Amino acid sequence: MARDLHTQRRRADQGELHPPSLAQNPHNIAGPLAHALDTLRGVTEPLICVIEDEEVIARAVAARLRAEGFAVELAHDGHDGIALCERVRPDLVVLDLMLPGLDGLEVCRRIQRDRPVPVLMLTARGEESDLLVGLAVGADDYMTKPFSPRELVARVRALLRRVERRPAPPGDALRLGGLEIDPAARLVRLEGEIVHLTPTEFDLLALLAGRPGAVFSREQLLADVWGWRDGSGQRTVDSHVRGLRRKLGSDLVRTVHGVGYALESPA
Ligand code: CA
Repeated sequence: MARDLHTQRRRADQGELHPPSLAQNPHNIAGPLAHALDTLRGVTEPLICVIEDEEVIARAVAARLRAEGFAVELAHDGHDGIALCERVRPDLVVLDLMLPGLDGLEVCRRIQRDRPVPVLMLTARGEESDLLVGLAVGADDYMTKPFSPRELVARVRALLRRVERRPAPPGDALRLGGLEIDPAARLVRLEGEIVHLTPTEFDLLALLAGRPGAVFSREQLLADVWGWRDGSGQRTVDSHVRGLRRKLGSDLVRTVHGVGYALESPA
């Protein structure tokens, strides 16, 4: 049966690769339907959307992820990528930064707006400044092309682990001045208005807010929020702090020079 499902899904994915077949049958929902059936049957491999306009890279990434047991859906431009994510509600998105139509930054913003989902961004060399913006708009991790498919799979697994090990929600919302953090709903309100944070921004804020005023080193934040213990990726922390400041106000997170960050405790 597993083999049948695999074949069924592969056919569905080919539908994604060849839009004309979708045009002939606009109600073709074989891909998401196959995944929904799998879920009902208790086959719950994570579903990954790959949004990448370079066909060769898209196919290689999809093939490798499938070989590793993931379900994969493909889109080749930004608008299709957003529509795909709304339709299939993936567990993770692999998103190319440079896409025709809508670029990866805008796609990242839009797919995170209604439902936070981990995003692994793909960039080419020389796109560093865009990349930092990407991390600020809600990508959780990035890889620079060319990359090895093996490393991609490792990053995907690490990101999914981070989502899985997010702690069981404690009951009570936390209030700090005009800021309210509701861990059960993973919601943040500022002066009563909901603020949309990415999964990583939420985790970072929740950790800092757990001990207002306490200074956390970048290494400590990387270990506790990202699960990275080798001390690399400190600019990733800085980017996400920038994201929090942009959304919640520049005074919220204080930089402690040479040490790290602290959440300002309200007076
Ligand atoms: Ca591209």
